[in-house]
Amino acid sequence: MGGLIIAPKARVFHGHDWVYGTEVRAVFGNPQPGDVVALKDHRDRFLGSALYNPRSQIVARRFSRRKQQLDADFFRRRVHQAVELRRQKLGSEELMREVWSESDGLPGLIVDRYRDVLVVQMLTLAMLLHESEIVEALREELQPACVLVRNDSPVLAAEGIEPDTHIAFGNMPPPFVVTGRGLKFEVDPAHGQKTGLYLDQLDNYGQVAQYAKGKRVLDCFCNQGGFALACAKGGAADVTAVDISELAMQAVQRNAQLNGVSLHRVVANAFDMLSAESEAVRKGGDSKWDVIVLDPPSFTRNRKSLNGALRGYKEIHLRALQMLPVGGILSTFCCSHHMSRELFMQVIAEAAVDAHCTLRLVAEHGQRADHPVLLNIPETQYLRGFTFELVAGR
Ligand code: SAH
Repeated sequence: MGGLIIAPKARVFHGHDWVYGTEVRAVFGNPQPGDVVALKDHRDRFLGSALYNPRSQIVARRFSRRKQQLDADFFRRRVHQAVELRRQKLGSEELMREVWSESDGLPGLIVDRYRDVLVVQMLTLAMLLHESEIVEALREELQPACVLVRNDSPVLAAEGIEPDTHIAFGNMPPPFVVTGRGLKFEVDPAHGQKTGLYLDQLDNYGQVAQYAKGKRVLDCFCNQGGFALACAKGGAADVTAVDISELAMQAVQRNAQLNGVSLHRVVANAFDMLSAESEAVRKGGDSKWDVIVLDPPSFTRNRKSLNGALRGYKEIHLRALQMLPVGGILSTFCCSHHMSRELFMQVIAEAAVDAHCTLRLVAEHGQRADHPVLLNIPETQYLRGFTFELVAGR
């Protein structure tokens, strides 16, 4: 087995499992991209087995502290552990992320289940090279009707992988209906945005809907409408869902029918809409909403673009707060691990200062338990959410 000598003070010495190119002191044994390599410190002490890809910024991802090969037995064990964890935490459900990359000891492998269809993404070269063992392990563990490999994420370019989508097993059914947390969604795994639904948010729909009974709700960045649908089902007086994507809005329409609810749909840039409406309220117009949900895409893919992203986050929070009456509810989410809990809070606090309002924290939200967080890999904790109530001025 080839390997890497890791420079002192690298992340792995502090528990992280990633090795960046700048942290490699030497390469030995001529490992090839996609191989398993041994990680060693400069005294030749073994640190673990890792997936190697010199084309990536993260050249090695440790997946075991022992000597370990990527064989059929390895994939069987790790897939079994991942699936067992979901069964314990969430029981058996139609919508589930069954495997989530580093969090399940399978760096770069993501497996989402939509009823009996598995959608697999391989975001590291090593996983790509072991597709047949992975598909075999998934078939054994989950008995799917279809396994779709959907390697079309933009992050693949960083690993030097060409996009490719194909059916690895079975037949892809036409668009079908799945139920998650009491909500019905039509899914089309071969074509949906990302792998389909935002499974990480599934538990939060109901949590937010608790505040929506009898209220007028605005779901901004709604995608296929999870929050809007849950609020409408939960007895909201009136629900409006906004997204910039026409396709997403068509999905919202179908999902509303499936769930037997009606809602208003607006295809718009949420920033423009919030700006125009908050302006109208500031000029003395009536507040139109009692509950506003903000779930924008990650504005920042790296630390460098964080400042620009912070301005964007502050702006939408300011606009939303300017539109809320006293007693109004703001549920807001951020899906970038670059935004710490404290930083996210701070952005909202600054928006509240400018909007001259006081916010009371009523609930805190996170990613679903099928997206496990590892303490040694802070990047695994990426979804944060807060629900605030706007309290009377003091
Ligand atoms: N709340 C959704 C997930 C939101 S993902 C859920 O739980 O499923 C982010 C969404 O924001 C995407 O659907 C994307 O189309 C939309 N979007 C991106 N930029 C936007 C903009 N400027 N205005 C409105 N929607 C936008």
